[in-house]
Amino acid sequence: MIPIRPNVLGMEPYVQGKPIEEVKRELGLTRVVKLASNENPFGPSPKAVAAIQEAASTMHLYPDGGAYALKQAISSKFDIATNQIMVGNGSDELIHLLGLITLDKPTDELMMCNPGFARYDASAHLAPCRLVKIPVDSKHVQDLEAMADAVNENTRIIYLANPNNPTGTIVRRNAVDRFLDRVPESVVVVLDEAYYEFAMHHPEFPTSLEYIKAGRENVVGLRTMSKAQGLAGLRIGYGFASTTIVDAINRAREPFNVSRLAQVAAIAALEDDEHVRKTVEHNRRGLELLAGVFAEVGAEPGESFANFMYADFHRPTRPIYQALLQRGVITRPGDLLGNPNCLRVSIGTQEEMDIFVEELRNVTTPAVAK
Ligand SMILES: *Cc1c(COP(=O)(O)O)cnc(C)c1O
Repeated sequence: MIPIRPNVLGMEPYVQGKPIEEVKRELGLTRVVKLASNENPFGPSPKAVAAIQEAASTMHLYPDGGAYALKQAISSKFDIATNQIMVGNGSDELIHLLGLITLDKPTDELMMCNPGFARYDASAHLAPCRLVKIPVDSKHVQDLEAMADAVNENTRIIYLANPNNPTGTIVRRNAVDRFLDRVPESVVVVLDEAYYEFAMHHPEFPTSLEYIKAGRENVVGLRTMSKAQGLAGLRIGYGFASTTIVDAINRAREPFNVSRLAQVAAIAALEDDEHVRKTVEHNRRGLELLAGVFAEVGAEPGESFANFMYADFHRPTRPIYQALLQRGVITRPGDLLGNPNCLRVSIGTQEEMDIFVEELRNVTTPAVAK
């Protein structure tokens, strides 16, 4: 018998949103739309695609392990020093690394909300630590007072996804200010801003950069190119933190953790404001459409500041998910997200959204009506 670490055996393998090709093959369907993984309906930034095409012939060379040019681009865009910037193979990798540099003993605690983002769970399982999950409030918002109450001398790292995945809600500046005042400065507080571009225009949306620039040494900001920039398949994320944390990440990471092509694409995508603007604009209309149809079929749409909507059906959504799947619409059922009564649906193209609306009506309306 090979003695695998018990923490690892306790992990659930990640269940990915079903790939379109698999659903077509298994169900014999020709038309399948996927609204399960919060991908960009407009595809990748065209500037990023062009940059990759140009750089493709240099892929025999190792990437710049220090990501000099990319960090310069991030530095000038967000006005922060390059030694306060980290880059990763998706922000998932940065989450993994943050666990590696902070969690040391079985009594150490990683705190997150429930339902929350699954990679935080995974990070906790890979380290010797205790995972503490604090339920969101009745409006699906992270309960920062309850989280601050739960902090103790063992708390090492706290994740606040802002907006939160899967609920789509944000925590506002006042609440985050108060929270940071209550949490000791020795506790790392990660503001995971994977959906930053979709929420940044809200006047009460606080960015990690505000706190980091004000000198909060324990705050980490995480961003990704997977959502608004449409580079999920390339795997590129970045983050901001104090030099102490960035230095630790640089020691722990693989030397070539971000590929050459990902680096050039990321630089190009950072300059492509037009692609992001178009994406965010379309997203706003998509959220309105979804809020309307969820209410129409008797579900309660959550307030979303991301590129997906989380709706409470007040009954298990697995059958609805299954029925939609049979009709070629892939969504994310709540039992995979930490709340069996909810369904998460990403904003797709107009055509995909129209199909979703039609099929949701079909699967939630009693058949006798037709
Ligand atoms: C999508 C997502 C990420 C990870 O994105 P990467 O593709 O790994 O960069 C991180 N956090 C949250 C909350 C997300 O939804």
